[in-house]
Amino acid sequence: MSLPVEDLAEHFRAIIDGLGEDPDREGLQDTPTRAAKAMKFLTQGYEQDLAELVNNAVFESAMDEMVVIQDIELYSMCEHHMLPFIGKCHIAYLPQGRVLGLSKFARVVDMYARRLQIQENLTREIAEAIENVTGAKGVAVVIEAQHMCMMMRGVEKQNSRMKTSMMLGQFRKSQATRTEFLNLISNNR
Ligand SMILES: [Zn+2]
Repeated sequence: MSLPVEDLAEHFRAIIDGLGEDPDREGLQDTPTRAAKAMKFLTQGYEQDLAELVNNAVFESAMDEMVVIQDIELYSMCEHHMLPFIGKCHIAYLPQGRVLGLSKFARVVDMYARRLQIQENLTREIAEAIENVTGAKGVAVVIEAQHMCMMMRGVEKQNSRMKTSMMLGQFRKSQATRTEFLNLISNNR
């Protein structure tokens, strides 16, 4: 059960205090409220519902070739450090009778990214959601992201990228389908 902004702000105030800062100095006076609002926004995926999100955007179609949506921007928060991870998501699916409106792919990505996440689970959840709403013969999701918890702290590695993939249905069964997808997304970069 998530707290209202004012209550959440009290916790941020305690964190600022706990860091040895003065939460009452001028620059920090509104920070607890701003931070609470920002955190609410970054985790708003918890309040969303998949069926509601894709409502009215699943269309009948005879299209049965691979559809690829590439380079969907992704902003999420790692559940281990509550620091951002940022990257791109690529989605492909093989429709059988139903296609999903283009903007909905980005909305599905955001719905699962705007939570406390690990990249592995995020990848799987997006793939399963697309399979669920479209009934596709196959769904593939690849995410490549850079993790602030690795760049700003800990091992401080600036150029490492994490790549995760989830292949469902035909993408899992057929090497040729998988290869076609991976070739399509490896172009243009
Ligand atoms: Zn982390």
